[in-house]
Amino acid sequence: MSIANAREIMVEAAKGKYAIGAFNITDLVQMEAVVEAAIDKKAPVIIQTSVKPSQFLGRQVLVAIYRTLAAAAPVPVCLHLDHCTEIGYCKMCAESGYTSIMIDASKQVYEENIRQTKEVVDYCHSVGNISVEGELGTLGGVEDQVKIVEDEAALANPNQGVEFVERTGVDIFAPAIGTAHGVYKTKNPKIDFERLGKINQMLNGSGVKTPLVVHGGTGLPEDYVKKLLEMGGAKFNVSTELKHTLIDTTYDYITAKRDEYDPGKIDAAAKDAIRGAVGHWIDMLGSAGKA
Ligand SMILES: [Zn+2]
Repeated sequence: MSIANAREIMVEAAKGKYAIGAFNITDLVQMEAVVEAAIDKKAPVIIQTSVKPSQFLGRQVLVAIYRTLAAAAPVPVCLHLDHCTEIGYCKMCAESGYTSIMIDASKQVYEENIRQTKEVVDYCHSVGNISVEGELGTLGGVEDQVKIVEDEAALANPNQGVEFVERTGVDIFAPAIGTAHGVYKTKNPKIDFERLGKINQMLNGSGVKTPLVVHGGTGLPEDYVKKLLEMGGAKFNVSTELKHTLIDTTYDYITAKRDEYDPGKIDAAAKDAIRGAVGHWIDMLGSAGKA
């Protein structure tokens, strides 16, 4: 059995100065690609779904596939719900067998963020061995990345971050530090590395308790990834890159073989490409060989 929650593998990662790749998927082929890449690399891994694909495929279906793949995998595999803004759906996914849940109440005012996050934490901990991720600060798309970084108030305040973690009891924490969802428009996105380092020092300086999450992994230059790792990033979320890989590979395949009507071959091409992208991230994050 290699079913794991996010916190347990991230604590090991933070102690060992590497990070866990958390890869967003929308179907079975992509999920298999992620698990196969992790097995190839002997790496612990996190599979993530956002709310929409979870509702489209059905959370029970996703969990059944996840449990089947994870049970047979010789590496720890976590199934995490990404950016869920509804407490009710967080609870439903926890009941269905997700092993990690993100309640994203970061758009709420601070006290309400704490209240909602704590409610999900208390519930998930009562259901079973389920870790919960909370977020503080604004984590936008690329269109407002620079604006957010320049607005001090939009990023996670370190003192408030510590208080947020203590009052909510979250297992893993995503402070906004300027990373963004989508594809960065510049080669040098503005990221507040020191802020992450400071929060990590305050939370985990005397032993890893609450490992930190970096959102918006797609397109971060490798030296940025290394620096974020050094500063305490223990989970890197990668979504947009896999979407592009899937769609570009599928498009190229169909364009090249327009008269071939064999969906299995399209799936195989997509799976290979995604496995390659995931393997590359695992190498960058240093988690290869850590399972
Ligand atoms: Zn995110």
